[in-house]
Amino acid sequence: MTAIKGFLQLIITDGFDEKKKKEYALIAVSEIDRAERIIRDFLTYAKPVSNKKDKINLAEEIYKIVEIIEPLAHLNTVEIYFDSQPSCFMLGEKASIHQCLLNLFKNSIEAMENGGVLSICTYQDDSNLYVDIKDTGIGMSEVQLKRLGKPFFSTKGDKGTGLGMMTTFTLIKSMNGSIDVSSKLGAGTTFTLSFPLFEQGTGKELALMKQLI
Ligand code: ADP
Ligand code: MG
Repeated sequence: MTAIKGFLQLIITDGFDEKKKKEYALIAVSEIDRAERIIRDFLTYAKPVSNKKDKINLAEEIYKIVEIIEPLAHLNTVEIYFDSQPSCFMLGEKASIHQCLLNLFKNSIEAMENGGVLSICTYQDDSNLYVDIKDTGIGMSEVQLKRLGKPFFSTKGDKGTGLGMMTTFTLIKSMNGSIDVSSKLGAGTTFTLSFPLFEQGTGKELALMKQLI
């Protein structure tokens, strides 16, 4: 904002070089674009997370977000593969799940500027539901991995805000989930999300059944 104000003040100064006016105005516009991105990501982060949790079929939600992100994948010649059992249930908030998946898929695709493969798969064990999000992109160094999720950490210069992962970590925690990452520079990155499995007959229902037996 300070930079934008500075450029605009110069432009409106009497006798300012006419040729430079356009150049400075263009710089101000690109700075406004950057501020817009930061404010948008920050508002998403600051949005209160509702406590309302619904039964969610995660596979269904992944399909929706894959559809939304497909044009971006196309631009970077990234192929998306998705493998899942048709139904896998968890408790959570749809809008939060969407936001997390969007941030993670977008980062993966952005890490594969010269093409690659984004593979998504879900699986489960007795207590948890897992999602692997694997890319064949540029990967991260140890130092970068340590900084992942810290506010404003970005390696994308003007194009990045460094707020996506911070938001993702917070939202996953709010749904009692966890996130793991393994990455190798030049080889790719895999994020693994884990959420408690939603099982029919847990909680109140199970207690009731026990009383009946
Ligand atoms: P932004 O995407 O705006 O830079 P994020 O918080 O979404 O901010 O990500 C922070 C940084 O983490 C990125 O700039 C990038 O360096 C790194 N990163 C995140 N996901 C990946 C990935 N899949 N592959 C490589 N680097 C990644
Ligand atoms: Mg991002």
